[in-house]
Amino acid sequence: MSSSYPPQASSTKLSEIRAEAIDWSLAHGLVVRPTIDKQQHFEHNAAVTHAPLALYPTPFPRAEFYKAKNLQLPWNTLIHRMSQDDQLITELMQTLSQVDDFMKRLYDIYVQVKSEGIAQSASLGIHRCDYLLHADLGKDTSTARIQQVEFNTIASSFGSLSTRTSELHKYLLSSVDDYGHGQITMDQLPDNDAVESIALGLASAWKLYGKPNARVMMIVQPGERNAFDQRWIEYSLLEKHGVRLLRRSMEQVVNNGELDPVTRALTVDGYEIAVTYFRAGYGPEDYHGDKEWEARLTIERSLSIKCPTVAYQLVGAKKVQQVLSVPGRLEHYVDDDATASDLRESFAGLYPLDDSLEGNQAYEMALKDAERFVLKPQREGGGNNVYGDDIVATLNKLSVKERNAYILMDLIRTPPLDNLMLREGAILNGQVVSELGIYGIYLNDGENQVVNQVGGHLLRTKGIDTKEGGVAAGFAVIDSPLLV
Ligand code: ADP
Ligand code: MG
Ligand code: MG
Repeated sequence: MSSSYPPQASSTKLSEIRAEAIDWSLAHGLVVRPTIDKQQHFEHNAAVTHAPLALYPTPFPRAEFYKAKNLQLPWNTLIHRMSQDDQLITELMQTLSQVDDFMKRLYDIYVQVKSEGIAQSASLGIHRCDYLLHADLGKDTSTARIQQVEFNTIASSFGSLSTRTSELHKYLLSSVDDYGHGQITMDQLPDNDAVESIALGLASAWKLYGKPNARVMMIVQPGERNAFDQRWIEYSLLEKHGVRLLRRSMEQVVNNGELDPVTRALTVDGYEIAVTYFRAGYGPEDYHGDKEWEARLTIERSLSIKCPTVAYQLVGAKKVQQVLSVPGRLEHYVDDDATASDLRESFAGLYPLDDSLEGNQAYEMALKDAERFVLKPQREGGGNNVYGDDIVATLNKLSVKERNAYILMDLIRTPPLDNLMLREGAILNGQVVSELGIYGIYLNDGENQVVNQVGGHLLRTKGIDTKEGGVAAGFAVIDSPLLV
């Protein structure tokens, strides 16, 4: 890629591109609700703004893009197998439950429902594996290879808005004169069916449940600003599959939900729920009190097919990612050596912070060389990790036992590129790095795999001075890859 990417555009041209991008986004539902202070002129949730987005697609090596896609089917199977491994979950929770109250409460639900007998043996996964490009210091950008940041098993978001962003960049290329400046061609912008894949996953689980009048329920956060990313899934589910979806908070499930004492069918507001799809409930902030925990337990006990089950959520922990990196552990779940080695090739260095020999070595290493690492707790949704000097400060405050709540990971060093980001109408210019997400759709009926699919992609781009990558958390914009 020449150094003049993104294409040089005059300020008049840039204003035109911005105007086209904003109008297309508003017209095509590439939107989010503005922050509360900006909604004040409107009642009844009537205000939207375009989603934070990249004005140009960001270059991404074609081979690495397809490599990530090809890893997704094995990941789907791997996650499912881990979720069925009671020994793994018990091992994981032995120490975590003593230092992480949120994980402990999830585990309590897992244990209780297992001892009662599981009503629904099917499970649905709508996952997303996230990758950054890594090049060793001093090495050429062309050596950059994907390394996995994490895998998400609950509430993986932005599938819909990412599909729309891929379309936006194609639109800008076909509609704005000289947008690409000869540097962007249509065949470099891959199709992205994330929203359709997610809807197909939900529809497949609904069909497996086998009751034509039952509905899908999406568990949402009250006041969700990213509601349109969710709505697109709902509309696709209705339009393409004829399946209806209820949006409910966990509190509403407790207040208006019932479990049939015999079949354990879950009914909410009179509708039987075939599939429960969580877009909330991934972190402690979604559980304001016992009501939400009661809702989570009720759903887990129910006959509805969960996306995800508590077991899926537990094995999505960062600690499991670290355990998998231990020689032999990943291989235990993967049928053939070639696949295992392909998966392993994308692993960054991961280290335990427990009281084992390795744990103590990692602890010393982190104190000595903090800039090389990221310290991660068992949390989701962005903004929870610790970097640089803060690692030393955090580790110094923790007892040996408390360190168990964290893992240590090598910092992935992504060669920066340039791009223009658009946030609430304002253009931000600067060096950026992009994180690629690949969606995975997986349905198992308890004995057999029913669906195993790659489900489209997401590219999130952030300024290099921000460490974390969440779009909703305000750190990043939605982008699409320009395959090079
Ligand atoms: P979460 O579950 O909260 O999204 P992540 O592991 O994805 O947690 O970390 C959040 C963000 O932090 C990522 O999107 C990425 O930008 C950054 N990050 C995480 N791990 C690394 C790493 N090993 N190297 C560089 N950046 C990282
Ligand atoms: Mg995550
Ligand atoms: Mg993440």
